[in-house]
This record gives sequence, C-alpha cells and structure tokens, in this order.
Amino acid sequence: MHELTLTARLLELIEEAAALNRLAQVDQVKVELGQLSCVSAEALSFCFNQLKKGSCAAGAELVIESVALEGFCPKCQAGFKVENLLFHCPNCRHPEIRLLRGEELCLTELSGEPHGD
Ligand SMILES: [Zn+2]
Repeated sequence: MHELTLTARLLELIEEAAALNRLAQVDQVKVELGQLSCVSAEALSFCFNQLKKGSCAAGAELVIESVALEGFCPKCQAGFKVENLLFHCPNCRHPEIRLLRGEELCLTELSGEPHGD
C-alpha cells in the first residue's frame, strides 16, 4: 500500500524535524499533497492515525492541503496553473510543458510543545 510507505517516511521526517526544533511533542502537522501524487487524502489520514501511536506525533492532527498542478513552458517561459489536466501551454499552445509542482507530498509545517528546561 503506497500510503503506508509514504506515511512511515513522513513520520520519520516529523521525528527528525521535532528533534531539530527541540519539540517534546507535536500538535499539528501540515502537508501539501499534489494532485498528481496518486495518494488519497483519506487513506493518508487513516495511515497517519494508525502509525503515529508511540511516536512524538501521537497526539498530532494532520492537516492536508491540496496543491494545484503548476507548469512551466520551455518555449515562451510562461508559468501557469495546469487545469483539467490539459498539458499544454495556455499562452502559446506549446504541447510540452514541465511540471513544477503537484506531484509530491511535502511536509510544510510542524507545531508542538518545546522541551521544558
Ligand atoms: Zn508557452
């Protein structure tokens, strides 16, 4: 199951980031989920709630933000949002575009309780 592997990797990143930021526990985790990542937000939440037990994010809430596809045209250098999965440049109609965002899962924000001194 794809989501399970991704969630395990996400929790590793969270543990690392929490250690770096001296957080004793994580309250909220924000991720960006690209429209082309083939990951369902519901499945991701479900896996997160299963796997977070016993980690520093055991009490954390997962906030998933959906990210639109962003493309770039190598011909006219235009940047644009890709809508309705139309993979051509809206400016010059060039049929080959590069995707800049929208394929991946990114950890964007972490908040929690710092270690008491
Ligand atoms: Zn173009």
